[in-house]
Amino acid sequence: MFFSPRAGQLAGLLALLLSTTQLQAEGLPQVPSTPKNLIIMVGDGMGPAYTSAYRLYMDDPATEEVEETVFNRLLVGNASTFPARESGYVTDSAAAATALSCGIKTYNGAIGVDSQKQPVPTLLERAKQAGLSTGVAVTSQVNHATPAAFLSHSESRQSYDELAQSYLATDAEVILGGGQKYFPESLRDKFRAKGYQVLTQMDALEQVNKPDVLGLFADIHLPWVQDEPEADRLATLTRKSLELLSQNNKGFVLLVEGSMIDWAGHGNDIGAAMGEMHGFANAVEVAEQFVRQHPDTLLVVTADHSTGGLTIGANSEYRWNPEAIRGMTATAESIAKQAIATDQWQQAVTTGLGFTPSQQEWLQLDQARMQGQDAMTKALRTTVNSHSNTGWTTGGHTGVDVQVFAAGAGSGLFRGHQDNTDIANKLASLLPSPTPAKVQ
Ligand SMILES: [Zn+2]
Repeated sequence: MFFSPRAGQLAGLLALLLSTTQLQAEGLPQVPSTPKNLIIMVGDGMGPAYTSAYRLYMDDPATEEVEETVFNRLLVGNASTFPARESGYVTDSAAAATALSCGIKTYNGAIGVDSQKQPVPTLLERAKQAGLSTGVAVTSQVNHATPAAFLSHSESRQSYDELAQSYLATDAEVILGGGQKYFPESLRDKFRAKGYQVLTQMDALEQVNKPDVLGLFADIHLPWVQDEPEADRLATLTRKSLELLSQNNKGFVLLVEGSMIDWAGHGNDIGAAMGEMHGFANAVEVAEQFVRQHPDTLLVVTADHSTGGLTIGANSEYRWNPEAIRGMTATAESIAKQAIATDQWQQAVTTGLGFTPSQQEWLQLDQARMQGQDAMTKALRTTVNSHSNTGWTTGGHTGVDVQVFAAGAGSGLFRGHQDNTDIANKLASLLPSPTPAKVQ
C-alpha cells in the first residue's frame, strides 16, 4: 500500500478499492486486489514426479508435442514440507495439513494442534469468524487427516470418531466425501437437527440447491478413479461445493483434496496413482474455470508431501512406458479380486492389464494368486511397474519440496520458493477481519 489508512479513512479506502480503473487512468499505482473467495486444493502425496508422470500419461503419442496439463498452466512456485523438529525432516499428512491450515510446524500425527498439543485456529475457523462460508470436498473419509486439520483439532489423526463428532461445531456449510462408518445415525440426526441435509448417494447431490449439506458417499473412501473413471466424483463434488458456497455474498473458503493419490503411492501402484491424478486434475480444472468466471477468487493448489519416491524411468534404463498403464481397465486390486474369483484368471489378468505378462511374470502371478488377495494385488502392481519401467524407493513419504500452483486474485503472493506454513499465513492474511459477534 502506498498510504496507511487510519480510523475514519475507511470510507476513502473503500472508494479507492472500488475505483481501480480511475486510479489507473490517473497514473497512480494500482491497489492490490484481495480475493473474496479462497479455494485451496491439496493433492495428497502429489510430489513433482506425479505431475510429470501425469503429463506423460496424458500425452497423445500420435502427436509430436507433449500436451500441457492444468498443472503446467498454473505452476507458480514450490514449498518445503518438513514438520516440527521432533518429527525429523519427513512429514506426514496431519502435520503438513496443519502447516497449510494453521501456519505452524507441528509433530507428525497432529491435527490443528501445536507441539504442546494446544489447538491453533485453522484457516476455515478464521474464515468462519470473518463471516465467510466454509467447506471441504475430499475423496477420503471427510474426517481424514487433511480435511480434519482444516476444520478441527486433535492430538491424534487416529481419533476418527472424535473428529467426526467435532464437525458438528464447525458450522461448515459443505462437507462432502466418504466416511459413513464414522457418522452413526445418532450423529447424522444431530447434523439434521442443525439444518444439514445428510446424503449418502451421489445422485441426490444434484437436487441440493442450498447449504448446509453433509454428504457421505462411501463407508470409508470413495471408489478408485481407475475403477470408475467416468464417475468423475471429485470434479462433481468440487462443482457442487462452489455452487453452494458462492451463495454467500461475503465469500467462502473451500478445501478440496485428492486424498488417494497418496494411498496409491504407499502401495507403489502407478495405475491407481495416475487414475487419482486424473480425478484431481479434473477437479482443479473445475476450480480454474470458476476463477475465470469469478476473478475475485484465489485458487491455490499444492501437495502436502510426496509419496513412494516415484521415479519415471527405473532400473538404469532411459525408458518410461505409460502405455502399459493407459491400457488398464481396473486397479490392480480389482483385477486381483476377479482373478481370484475365476478359473479363467489369466483372461481376467490380460483384460485388466491391457497387455500380456511375460512367462516369468505368469509364474509369479500364479504363485501370488495362491497366497490370496494382497499378494496378487502386489504382484500385479509389480508387473505394471516393470512393464512401464516405473520406480519406487519407499512405501512411505519423502522430504522433497512440492509444487505450488495458483490463479486468480492474489496468486502473485505464492510465486517462488516458500515454506508450507507460509502458504497458510498468506491465505490467512487475505481473509477479511473477524466480524463482531452478532447481537441476538
Ligand atoms: Zn501418506
